[in-house]
Amino acid sequence: MSRDPQRRIALFGGTFDPIHEGHVEIAARAREAMDLDEVIFLPCRISPHKIGVASAPPDDRLEMVRLATRGLPWASVDDFDLTSPPPSYSYLTAGEMARRFPGARLFWIMGADQWRALPDWREPERLAELVEFLVFSRDGSPQPRAGFRMTPLQGTHPASATAIRREIAAGKPAEWLDPAVAAHILQRGLYKA
Ligand code: ATP
Repeated sequence: MSRDPQRRIALFGGTFDPIHEGHVEIAARAREAMDLDEVIFLPCRISPHKIGVASAPPDDRLEMVRLATRGLPWASVDDFDLTSPPPSYSYLTAGEMARRFPGARLFWIMGADQWRALPDWREPERLAELVEFLVFSRDGSPQPRAGFRMTPLQGTHPASATAIRREIAAGKPAEWLDPAVAAHILQRGLYKA
């Protein structure tokens, strides 16, 4: 059976603070499962109330995503969220991508934790008109939601960005990091307590 000619692009928004092997692995799994042409990593702003001492500046988060994905021909990194004037909401980002890639079939990759939080996002219904959601189980199976196109995907990964920041702050070697990302963190002195 021949595949439909429509380009399949997944958007992967996240704080990537820092990007770790779990992020790259779920992107790779989504690509395989859905026969995606491209996964666009979109580092997003961190809302002011979440910025703690351990958060890395946007330019460093962007650079770390570039470093972690540099060998992947199907991955690209976009700074749209970081460079467009605030507020940067996911439905606006998806709208921009729909304009840039007319006729493409758009997906949005996330973990089940984000899927549960989606009703609290700004205008989730508008996002749902633009993208199909690809949801990884992470800490529980995603429940279907009326009006939202969602495909649950198998796979979780033990890495957690919060745990990585804690380990670095405690002076321990962090697991699950691309060596180039680990070197960047060290060189820039990120996540130190
Ligand atoms: P933290 O651990 O600090 O909460 P995070 O990695 O969950 O960070 P983001 O960088 O915003 O935060 O994650 C981007 C997306 O990747 C989210 O939808 C999240 O659910 C998903 N994700 C992150 N880590 C994993 C993992 N280990 N397994 C599956 N999904 C993950």
